Amino acid sequence: MAHQESDLDTDFDGDDRGDDRKRGGRGGGGGKRGGFARRKVCRFCADKAVKIDYKDPQTLKYFITDRGKIVPRRISGNCAKCQRKVALAIKRSRMVALMPFTVTGK
Ligand SMILES: [Zn+2]
Repeated sequence: MAHQESDLDTDFDGDDRGDDRKRGGRGGGGGKRGGFARRKVCRFCADKAVKIDYKDPQTLKYFITDRGKIVPRRISGNCAKCQRKVALAIKRSRMVALMPFTVTGK
């Protein structure tokens, strides 16, 4: 009987410790939503070869949503300067019908 009691006691102790560790552990609410938004500098500053051109919808399409809206800078990862150029290019691109103003559903 004494043996069983001791076993139970040990179990209790271990459980308590485990709980404490769980609470004290690094409480990182890993907020990692949104896909690839982490860039040190924006892709236009990083790569001089990539130009912001309204005649180049292939490049610009990365900066609009699937609804045709321009994505905000915090999502696209562009710097302020390039984001403005991108936005302007997208708007020009829309005017010459290379890019959509909106994308309506079916
Ligand atoms: Zn930039």
